[in-house]
Amino acid sequence: MAENIRDTVILGSGCAGLTAAIYAARANLKPLLLEGHEPGGQLSITTLVENFPGWPEGIQGPELIENMRKQASRFGAEFRLGHLATADLTKHPFALNLGHETIHARTLIIASGASARWLGLPSEQALIGHGVSSCATCDGFFFSGKEIAVIGGGDSAMEEALFLTRFATKVTLIHRREHFRASRIMLDRAIAHPKIAFLTNAVITEVLGVEKKEVTGVRVLDTVTSVESELGVSGLFLGIGHIPNASMFAGQLDLDEDGYIKTHNFVFTRVPGVFACGDVQDRRYRQAITAAGTGCMAALEVEKYLEEHGH
Ligand code: NAP
Repeated sequence: MAENIRDTVILGSGCAGLTAAIYAARANLKPLLLEGHEPGGQLSITTLVENFPGWPEGIQGPELIENMRKQASRFGAEFRLGHLATADLTKHPFALNLGHETIHARTLIIASGASARWLGLPSEQALIGHGVSSCATCDGFFFSGKEIAVIGGGDSAMEEALFLTRFATKVTLIHRREHFRASRIMLDRAIAHPKIAFLTNAVITEVLGVEKKEVTGVRVLDTVTSVESELGVSGLFLGIGHIPNASMFAGQLDLDEDGYIKTHNFVFTRVPGVFACGDVQDRRYRQAITAAGTGCMAALEVEKYLEEHGH
């Protein structure tokens, strides 16, 4: 069995996981990186990243991720498609069940990130892929010459709305409050854009078009006047935040009320040898650079842990 035990397994191939892989691989730990449901993580479905240090003109998210991947591979990180079904963190080495096989690992770095949040309306769920999307860069092209709506009031919603103006004739940004969470620079860009209109104090109560199997509009409730109205659009893009991918650790690790893994000293979980980094444990910053930072910390702590345990 000894030869089947990995020194470290990294869950997730976004910015945090890849940075952990670069550091662990350079430390000669031959990390195995499980790519997860969304290989490359959130950066792989974003557009221009303007705030990652080192690229004064910005860099496309997929290119940034591809560079990190190449860098990790160069030092011997091993990549595998697949995701964790269940884990047993009560035994050492940890048992990681991928469904078709079980991998044993002395340490585990959880960098499984966060996935798009949905409204949860039955009509929204029925129309995913038929006009409802959470990824503007993936699906925006299908809405050339059409009117669409984006929901959310944070940077993701602004970014999606701005990106979608390349294709759509009009983008209506629907937000449930008067005030926005988005950074000033993103909000100002959206406000200044001639194709973007704002609908505030507004919640979507239904996505229209279920019978036709394509989005024909949204029903919107004005939360101030309680008046409902319909807005004709061909697409609805969700930009309402993300949910951490940590439910498979419920009961074994401490999760907060929204499901984020609780860490102390940045990356330590309550199980020795298990570290968490990036968006799965960070509800405050959630930036590419902070995910990379905690990915680095997790790998350095793995090195230390293995050394202290005689490996
Ligand atoms: P966020 O900042 O958490 O914003 C989510 C937005 O969705 C909020 O405005 C929230 O409304 C709204 N919302 C949540 N649940 C909703 C629901 N059920 N119905 C209607 N509206 C709902 O998430 P984010 O925009 O994804 O950003 C996350 C982090 O990534 C932030 O730190 C952000 O700065 C960063 N980010 C940066 C960039 C960039 O710099 N280019 C791009 C994308 C993301 P309330 O405000 O009322 O809560």
